[in-house]
Amino acid sequence: MADPLLRVEHLRIEVPTRRGILVAVDDISLEIAPGEVLGVVGESGAGKSLTGAAIIGLLEPPLRIAGGEIHFAGRRIDNLPYEAMRRIRGKEIGAIFQDPLTSLNPLYTIGRQLVETIRTHLDVGPAAARERAVALLGEVGIAAAEQRIDHYPHQFSGGMRQRVVIALALAGNPRLVIADEPTTALDVSIQAQIIALLKRLGRDHGTAIMLVTHDMGVIAETADRVAVMYAGRIVEMGPVQTIVAQPRHPYTAGLMQSIPRIGGPRDRLRQIDGAMPRLDEIPPGCPFHPRCPDAFDRCRRERPALLPAPGTQAGTDAACWLYDPAISGDAITARHSRESGNPGAATISAAALDPRFRGGDGC
Ligand code: SF4
Repeated sequence: MADPLLRVEHLRIEVPTRRGILVAVDDISLEIAPGEVLGVVGESGAGKSLTGAAIIGLLEPPLRIAGGEIHFAGRRIDNLPYEAMRRIRGKEIGAIFQDPLTSLNPLYTIGRQLVETIRTHLDVGPAAARERAVALLGEVGIAAAEQRIDHYPHQFSGGMRQRVVIALALAGNPRLVIADEPTTALDVSIQAQIIALLKRLGRDHGTAIMLVTHDMGVIAETADRVAVMYAGRIVEMGPVQTIVAQPRHPYTAGLMQSIPRIGGPRDRLRQIDGAMPRLDEIPPGCPFHPRCPDAFDRCRRERPALLPAPGTQAGTDAACWLYDPAISGDAITARHSRESGNPGAATISAAALDPRFRGGDGC
């Protein structure tokens, strides 16, 4: 991997409550290189959005960073004063959130919002800022940008509004974009267009993207690498093709089994029984053990560390006692195969995708 643009080391996020301190994110470490798309996936409550919010300096009190460090472009940023972080946010790190309506002011035209954002981050006059705003709208696929720039948010469809939000996130030429569930509020065909747009940004501009989503299908289509989160911890991380084709952690395997296969046998989709534990109910040992079909005694007592998973491409790690070197590789493979069907067969494969879409209000 190229030198990382973003490096998160042992991040811990806590929330103090009347009944004690709860740990929302526990010992997260990850890196993102320029131009790379890192998918962060997990169910609601896994801590993935909090990780993104901590990186961009938008953790809402009483949530607080209680440990670890965040480095961006070689500079530590988790301990910066508010004003210094505000200058980085928007200019060097952009953000895209799930609901475009919460990111846009309904009282102002999108042109005014774009021009203000551009002038906040770049040293340009009003005319040059408007020119850049039109160019950005064109780049994100909004047709007739010269006219549409003077429209209000309510005059755009949901997919078009999300494109405007992406244009806003790109206004300062950021090197990293945190995209938190950017396609969740959109229907499937618009999702595909936004995914294609995000991929193109990384490819054309070298923009690094941290894509936060609960949808393993979106990750499979978009990301270069994936970090799977559960109960505030990373439980599996590695190249997306490896993890999609051969998930090692039982939780990742469960996520993959819940995705419909195109052309596969017609069968009921499996689900992971149970629910993500609340912060005050995270069990000892492996936090997944109450839901895990492979759990054994040790899982209930000791917490597994994130370690290289045997038999996978270098750079694939899993936090699971099944991959303890003390257990033989054959036993692991046999056990895992029994529970996850045929892990050698791709559940989703995406190769040489080149999705194209029309601009205009048809989306
Ligand atoms: Fe399941 Fe045990 Fe692995 Fe946790 S450590 S995922 S409970 S097998």
